[in-house]
Amino acid sequence: MENRNFKQLALWALAFILLVALFRNVKAPEQQIKIPYSGFQKELKAGAVVSVKVQPDIIEGKYKATDGHLVDFETIPLPDANLVQDLQTYHVARYEGEPDRSWITSLAVNVGWIVLFFVFWWLFFIRQVQVGGKQAMSFGKTRAKLSDGNKNKTTFADVAGCDEAKEELSEIVDFLKNPEQFRKLGGKMPRGVLLFGLPGTGKTLLARAVAGEAGVPFFSASASEFVEMFVGVGASRVRDLFVQAKKAAPAVIFVDELDAVGRHRFAGIGGGHDEREQTLNQLLVELDGFEQNQGIVLIAATNRPDVLDPALLRPGRFDRQINVPAPHLKGREEILKVHARNVKMAQSVDLALVARRTPGFSGADLANVINEAALLAARKKKEAIETVDLEEAIERVMAGPQKKTSVMSDKEKRIVAYHESGHTLVAKILPGTDPVHKVSIISRGHALGYTLQLPTEDKYLTSKSEILNRLAVLFGGRCAEEIIFSDVTTGASDDIAKASAFAIRMVTEFGMSEKIGPLSLKKPDQEIFLGRDIAQQPNYSDNTARLVDEEVKRIIIEAQSKARDILSTHKRALDALAAKLFDREVLNGEDIDAILQQAGAAA
Ligand code: ADP
Ligand code: MG
Ligand code: ZN
Repeated sequence: MENRNFKQLALWALAFILLVALFRNVKAPEQQIKIPYSGFQKELKAGAVVSVKVQPDIIEGKYKATDGHLVDFETIPLPDANLVQDLQTYHVARYEGEPDRSWITSLAVNVGWIVLFFVFWWLFFIRQVQVGGKQAMSFGKTRAKLSDGNKNKTTFADVAGCDEAKEELSEIVDFLKNPEQFRKLGGKMPRGVLLFGLPGTGKTLLARAVAGEAGVPFFSASASEFVEMFVGVGASRVRDLFVQAKKAAPAVIFVDELDAVGRHRFAGIGGGHDEREQTLNQLLVELDGFEQNQGIVLIAATNRPDVLDPALLRPGRFDRQINVPAPHLKGREEILKVHARNVKMAQSVDLALVARRTPGFSGADLANVINEAALLAARKKKEAIETVDLEEAIERVMAGPQKKTSVMSDKEKRIVAYHESGHTLVAKILPGTDPVHKVSIISRGHALGYTLQLPTEDKYLTSKSEILNRLAVLFGGRCAEEIIFSDVTTGASDDIAKASAFAIRMVTEFGMSEKIGPLSLKKPDQEIFLGRDIAQQPNYSDNTARLVDEEVKRIIIEAQSKARDILSTHKRALDALAAKLFDREVLNGEDIDAILQQAGAAA
């Protein structure tokens, strides 16, 4: 810190000196009076001139004024063949020539400006980088954030629902706690650990906890920071990051978003991104240059392990890969408990129930639920978070914040009411679908309305009939619009997209089409960079492709007509449901059951 301040001070001082020097060069050091040539001649002939310096475009000198003291003067010379003779005649004590000063001056000025420009550019730049990150000292240095092992209080207790990952990482913690011991025993540590999993599953948190558990410094940088600006900077930042970490060893280096630099090389058109590639190469060099047991562990995280360059995954590099999965029911409850520690929960709150209602939520989503619930409770001036707050928080996190003002016209509202009722009714009538928990026509996020179906348990397997029913539910919305308004709206685009995706997977992945048979025709994962895709041949014939299209279409059409049949048969129930929904804007499971019972369409 002090060192840096000193450096900056020195830089400013240098700039100042340069400036002064420049102006000294341009301007005369002392005040000289300017006199006309005639004035000079007069003084000369009066015998007052003591000394002169003659240059092609200026004459400088001193003459004795009437009061006896010496005056510096300058004058512009005129062509005067007798000048030297006059100087002699009038006894000037000292006269000399000097080369053209204007030439030197202009050079000094020009060079001076260039130097000055660079000095300012440099200063400005350094300031810029310093604003960017506290640790940044200059261009090309790492911008990694360092957190002290003693101050970093994150431990494994803060991470829940990924016990296997924690177990694997605890070995690394042991190593970091005592690298010497490991060396004595001849244990081999992995150089790099790759954490992969969906966003928000706690990868960053885990890496931090490793450092926290071991009580060592934690250097964290995002790989995307390496690839900004100019070629070569990323590589030099990587180098610097490792230098810093080695000084602090034992330490953890954490590189987030590894895929930002670690994407498959040559994947882009024209051989890829130079800067990214250089950075990646530097990272590989550092990994290879790791003395084992040096006390440094590199942990990287990505949510796209599939696009990583294979070179990264070779033995001796990121040879340990740890999956950080989305939490299951039990894990969700534990994560909720971790975050509930920091807030005040009412006694009545059952977090197990909240966990049951949040399948598919990541750790970050759950942290968000608790946070939102706390905000809601605070707004209502409650003493503690209650179940209702948690329920509203779940919906908020699920679908974005509720719009305060509904800008929907009554006509639109009616359409949405029928659309959502369509989903609900089909889901109620068909067996094997998830129970409808809630249906709403209040806008949330981008969805106009929503039908909330919650599975009773986490599902790992889904049967063909279940998928077909789910497709029918998806088409329930649009079919209801069709039946009632004899027209369709754009509101079903999301449903259609989901349904198509399901149908395509049924045919090409799950082998659920008799015509195609149990073949996997799965296309390789979509790669953003075109180069790779172009090279990839489709692994089935045109004929099969046509057959796939036909099958997908057949499944979709069948699902649609199934939905249409149900809705036409139970039109009375559909009307009743839509009317109530239009009126109340939101219905829960019991409301729905009651309405259907009344309309004589109980499932
Ligand atoms: P990732 O790096 O995988 O995208 P983060 O580690 O950044 O996810 O998680 C973001 C936040 O979500 C964390 O700071 C934490 O509050 C919460 N979180 C995520 N996963 C968990 C977990 N398994 N246990 C507790 N909290 C979690
Ligand atoms: Mg992260
Ligand atoms: Zn819909």
